[in-house]
Formats: sequence, structure tokens, C-alpha cells
Amino acid sequence: MNVSVIGAGYVGLVSAACLAERGHRVVCVDVDERKIESINRGVSPIHEAGLTELLQKHAGGLLTATDDLPGAISRSDISIIAVGTPFNGTQIDLDQIREAAARVGSALAHIDAFHVVVVKSTVVPGTTDDVVRPILEERSGKRAGEDFGLGMNPEFLREGVAVADFSDPDRLVLGAIDGRTLEVLEKLYDGFDGVPRLRTNIRTAEMIKYASNALWATLISFSNEIGNLCALHSNVDSLDVLGGVHLDRRFTTRDAADPASLPAVVDYIAAGCGFGGSCFPKDVRALIAHGRNLGCDMPLLQAVIDINVKQPASVIAALRRHFSDLGGLRIAILGLAFKPGTSDIRESPALAVIEKLLQHGSVLRVYDPAAMTELSLTLRSRLDCAPSLIDCIKGADAILILTAWPEFKALPDLLAHHNWTPLVVDGRRLLAKRSVARYEGIGIRNMPSAIEDPVGNRSI
Ligand code: NAD
Repeated sequence: MNVSVIGAGYVGLVSAACLAERGHRVVCVDVDERKIESINRGVSPIHEAGLTELLQKHAGGLLTATDDLPGAISRSDISIIAVGTPFNGTQIDLDQIREAAARVGSALAHIDAFHVVVVKSTVVPGTTDDVVRPILEERSGKRAGEDFGLGMNPEFLREGVAVADFSDPDRLVLGAIDGRTLEVLEKLYDGFDGVPRLRTNIRTAEMIKYASNALWATLISFSNEIGNLCALHSNVDSLDVLGGVHLDRRFTTRDAADPASLPAVVDYIAAGCGFGGSCFPKDVRALIAHGRNLGCDMPLLQAVIDINVKQPASVIAALRRHFSDLGGLRIAILGLAFKPGTSDIRESPALAVIEKLLQHGSVLRVYDPAAMTELSLTLRSRLDCAPSLIDCIKGADAILILTAWPEFKALPDLLAHHNWTPLVVDGRRLLAKRSVARYEGIGIRNMPSAIEDPVGNRSI
């Protein structure tokens, strides 16, 4: 098929590259000249495993990028809108959606063939029907369901493993205004054999995405609340506790070869310094605002956000247990990205921790394997940016792990090799708790002596 993707960000570009890999001819449309130029050169503007390889393979062939939206749409069967939907402090900000819909609508006015417009951006229920559809109809002078198709196809990819997630999704949610639109959507995903397809109306498709993100955010805040309580007891590790909880077969199927092995979800929702990124925080807030607009309070989700906002403070509290004054303290910050595998620092808990420590007058040196270039110039001028892990930790009084990059697992060996004994605050529970001389982890009480914890390791 011939496909236009409007918005070549994390979702748009990954979708475009993966669809090209499936044999579709895809044009990315963006307003950012640098992104367009980079994509056309086959160079990924973002850090995402496997994306560079796909761009190198398809750029200039099945995949191109342009700012010429009418040209792209005139040569496509389907347009996928994947622009940003940030939270503006009060509610979801639909400016990019409105702008994209207006431009797509104007382009549709000049197209005779049946064209399908699909919203892939995360938008609150009703947006596609009540905001996008009227704009498309007004600008094109055509009617949805008669002259063009309209669909909603939320995206569930996770940054860091986005190419793998798009290529092998858990499910495809296909929201469509009518059977004709659905047929085109089904064709777009030809070859995704064995993937469950949920065919539904547009509002339900929009809601599924929010409910899904809200559930994950809730599970993480739940782990953090339980973890904070675990940390007030001796010998109670939240990893053991939540591991025990999630061995319940209603949560996870058992691995026949190793029935006691912990399900992967335990790591994903483990207690830590909080969730961040461009999705969970803004989507949960947007859903709460959406509920409020409809007269529906959402106290549970409000608590999820409140817990998350406070969670970075648990890292500062851990430092305070060892240093009465954080002013002048030399602190190595390991990790800026909101999760490993991405250069995305949007709403990263690391930024909240850094801001707090700068207020205390701590001297910060930071290192992230992928996200250093994402730091704002203002922040950069207040920090020391290290080129490597070893440079970052040299001479530090304390080391904070704020992103679970696998590279940071080398820390215990590095410290042992140099005979350094700084305090390590593990905001992501990446290291084994006895692997360094002075360890603090979220969801576990500081345990200076081996006698306090005779087991010494995770008991599951
Ligand atoms: P992003 O900010 O990385 O990308 C948005 C892109 O749209 C940018 O490149 C921007 O230049 C471009 N753009 C803005 N206005 C435009 C216009 N009028 N015409 C053409 N291009 C325009 O955003 P993202 O992280 O890719 O998220 C996109 C949507 O997908 C959001 O609704 C988000 O909630 C949702 N989503 C994101 C993720 C994720 O992990 N990032 C996962 C699932 C869903």
C-alpha cells in the first residue's frame, strides 16, 4: 500500500520504518526540517534499537520524508496521524492534531480516490469523532464514511524496544467508522499473522489506549507505595514481596521449565524513582481531566499521579540518611533517559532529582549512554557532563542510578577494582543489593550489616 505518516517522532518514524519493512511504500511528513533531512539520509534522529538498520535499508526507497503534505497524501491510500498530544497543564493539548487534520483535510479536497485517515496519536475518547472529523469534513468539503474513511488505531509500542513492539505487537486495535475503512486497516496490517485483532468503534479504540496506560501507571505507583512501606521494615525487600505477589497465576502464566522464575512484569513495575516519559504521566493526567470534564472524578488515578510526583524524593531521602548536608556533595548521576534503550528524557524522574539536588547546592556530574544531547543548554550549564561511566563516578561521594541501563551493571566491578566506596543509591533496583559496599535501594531498608539479612539474596 501507499502510506503517509504525519509526524515522524518516536511513534510515526518507527511505524513508518516498520511498515516499509513489511513492503509498504511510506512517506513521512513532518514540519521539522532536520528530521526530514536525517531520515532521507538514512540516519535515525532518535536512539531506538533496530531503527537505524531499517532506515539504512529503506531510506530513499520504500521510505522517504518530506514537508510536502499534499504531495504525500495525493500519492497515498491511507494517512496515519502520529503527531504529539502533550498535556498543557489543564487537559490534552490538541493543537498538533487540529493542525495536522486541517492540512490533511485541505489535501483531501483534491483527491478523487477513496482515502482513509487514521489517528494513531493517543487522544481522549471522542477526539477523532468530535474534533478530527469536523475539521477534515470542513476543509475537504467531503463526508467521512462516504467520500473518505476515518479510523483510530492506537499504538502500544514502548520506547527502547519500539521496533520489536511494532513488528510483533500483543494486539492490533482497529477502530473504524465503517467496514470500508476497516478493510483498509486490515490490509495495512497484512502479514501480522497470529496477532489478536480487536475490531471496534473509534471511541472504544481511543479508550483502550488510555485504560492500558492508566493500568500500567497504577501498577507502578502501587509498587512504589508498597515499596515505601517495605523500606520501613527490616529485611523486607519490595522485590521479594512483589515477586511473591506476581507468582499468582492470575497475573502470569508459569514457565514450565522453571516454575519459580519471576515473571518479567515484576521488573517492569518494580518500585523505583517513578515513571516518566512522554506517555504515562501525560496520558493519566489527560484521562483525569477528561473524566472531570464529564463530571467523573478519578481519585484512584489522581493518587497514581500524586505518588509518582513524590517518588523521586525517595532518592533524596536515601542520600539524606548518609549525608546531613547535600550542599557541595559530589554526586554522580547515572542515567537521564526515563527508561533504558531510549534517548527520551521527557518527564524523566532523573530531571526531578537533578533539579532538587541543584537546589541543595550539590555538585553534579551526569552520564547517560544515549541521552546526553537531549539536555537543555540551561541544564547543561549547571552540570558537569561526563563522557563515560568511569569519568562520571570518579571522585564521587555518592552515585545515583536513575535509569536502568545495562551498562551500569558494571558499577560493582568498577568500584571494587578501584577500591572506591561511595554510597550507591539504586533508584531502579538494577544492582544486587550486596554487590557494592554501601548500598541504598528503593523499596528496601538500608542494611549495613549482614546479620540483619541472613538470607542475603532474593529468596524467590
Ligand atoms: P513526538 O513528539 O516524538 O513526535 C511528534 C512529531 O510530530 C514531531 O516530529 C513533530 O515535528 C511532528 N509534527 C507536529 N505537528 C505536525 C504537523 N502539523 N505536521 C507534521 N508533523 C508534525 O511524539 P511521539 O512520542 O511520537 O508521540 C506521538 C503520539 O503517539 C502521541 O499522541 C503519543 O501520546 C502517542 N504515543 C507515543 C508513544 C511513545 O512511546 N512515544 C507510544 C504510544 C503512543
